[in-house]
Amino acid sequence: MTLTISARFSQQLPFAVRQLPLLRQLLDSVQQRGHWRGGVRLRGHKQLSNHSPIRSLPVAGLELAIPLTHGRSQAQACVQVGQRVRKGEVIGDGPAGTVWAHASTSGVVTAIDDCPVADGEQRQPAVRIAADGLDEWAPPCHPDGPLTPGLLAAFAMQMGLVGLGGAGFPTGLKLQGASPDTLLINGAECEPFLTCDDRLMRERAGEIIAAAALLASVFAIGRVRIGVEPNKPQAIAALRQAAAGHERPIEVLPLPLRYPAGGQPLLIKSLTGRTLPPGKLPAEVGVMVLNVATVYALGRAVLHGRPLVSRIVTVSGAVAQPGNVEVPIGLPVASVLAAAQAQGDGCVHVGGPMMGRTLADAGAVVSKTTSGLLVQAGAFRPAAAASRPCIRCNRCVDACPMALRPLQLLSACQQQDRAALQQEQLGACIECGACSHVCPSKLPLRDSFRQAKRTIWLGVRP
Ligand code: SF4
Ligand code: SF4
Repeated sequence: MTLTISARFSQQLPFAVRQLPLLRQLLDSVQQRGHWRGGVRLRGHKQLSNHSPIRSLPVAGLELAIPLTHGRSQAQACVQVGQRVRKGEVIGDGPAGTVWAHASTSGVVTAIDDCPVADGEQRQPAVRIAADGLDEWAPPCHPDGPLTPGLLAAFAMQMGLVGLGGAGFPTGLKLQGASPDTLLINGAECEPFLTCDDRLMRERAGEIIAAAALLASVFAIGRVRIGVEPNKPQAIAALRQAAAGHERPIEVLPLPLRYPAGGQPLLIKSLTGRTLPPGKLPAEVGVMVLNVATVYALGRAVLHGRPLVSRIVTVSGAVAQPGNVEVPIGLPVASVLAAAQAQGDGCVHVGGPMMGRTLADAGAVVSKTTSGLLVQAGAFRPAAAASRPCIRCNRCVDACPMALRPLQLLSACQQQDRAALQQEQLGACIECGACSHVCPSKLPLRDSFRQAKRTIWLGVRP
C-alpha cells in the first residue's frame, strides 16, 4: 500500500522536481516493485556501438530476399516474378492469423523461392527483389475504421508486426483478446554488445511514447511502465522527457542491472511484483508485455501507415565501423558486414552472445528478429574450453533466475527422461544461459535445455 501511494504521489510531482538526483533515486527505489534472485553481472561491451546515431544502408543494385514465414505463420506470395513493387507493398498475405510480408524497398521481383535466414535454422520461403535504388514508398495504409482492440490486432498482422525483441511472436496474436490492466514495455536490452534498443530509445523516444499512449488508450489500460536498465541513462532521460509532456501517465523505471533483467517473467516481477507461473501467458496475470522496438513499429504502422519493413541491427565485435544500422528486411547479412568493414576470419554470432546463435549460412539474410551481428574474430573470439565433469559447486543453481536446478535438468536431458524433465520444470527455463555462463566445468547446460525442448518435448528430429 505504501509503495502504491508513493508511486502515485511521485507522478503528481512536476517533472523538473522528479529529476533531482536524490529524489529520483528515492522514487526509483520506491517504484521498483518486485525482486528476483539469481542472474549474473556481465561485461556489457555496449560502448563499442552505442556512441553514434543509427545509420541507414544504401541498397541500390542489391538483391533482397524477404521471408514469408514467421514462426507458424506462413504467408503466400501475392506478387509475380517480373512485377515492380514499391516499398511497403504487400508481397505475401493469407487468411486471418497470418503475418503479412511487405517489400522492404522498391524494385523488381526476381524470384519466389527460399533462402537462409540469419537467426533461423531452416531455409524459408521468400520473395526476392532486385532493388532499384529509388526506395520509393507505396501509399500509406491505415486501419479500416475506428480503432478497437480487435481491429488493432488484425491490423498488426496485416502490417507484418512481430516481436522485435528476439522471439518474433506475431504482435497481432499477442493483442488478440487481451484485456490487461498494465502495459509493460521492455527496454532492458540486457544482452552484452546489443545497443539497438538503446539507440532507438535515445533517438525516437517521442514516437515510442506516442505509440505506448495509443495502445493504452485502445485497450483502456490504466498503467504503463517502461523498464530500462540503468546503464542507459540517456535513453531513460529521453523517455522521461517525452513522457513528461504527455497527458497519459507513463512511468520509466529502472530494472536491476543484472542479466537477464529483460526475461519476460523477470520483467513482470520487477515492474509489477506479479509472478508469471511457468507455462502461463502474461495476459493471465493482467499484463501486456511488448519490446520497445515492437511498440515503436506499432506506432509507425498505426500513426503513419507504414508496415514493418526494416529493423535496427547492432553490428559489433571485430568490425572497423561498429554501430547500429537500420536494415531493410531481407538484406544479405554479408552486405551489412561489408558496410561495417568486418575484419578477420571469425564466425558471426547473430543476436547477443548469451541467447543468440552462430550464423550457419554466409548467404543468410536479415530477418525481423535479427537484433545483432557480432563478428567473433581476434579479441572477440570466444575462448574454447572443453567440458569437464561437474564439481557440484551449485553456482548454476545460484545463477538461475527461474529457481531451477540446472544440473538435475542436464541429467534428465542426457537420460531423455520426460518425467524428470517435467519434475525439474524444463518448461520454466527461459534459455537465458546464466547457468552455462557461471559453470566452471563448461557443461553445455543451456544448449542441452534448448535442444531438449525441441527434440524430447516437441518431438522435432535433431
Ligand atoms: S538457461 Fe534455464 S536453467 Fe539455465 S539459468 Fe537460464 S533459466 Fe535457469
Ligand atoms: S555450475 Fe557446473 S559444475 Fe557447478 S554444479 Fe552446476 S553444472 Fe556442476
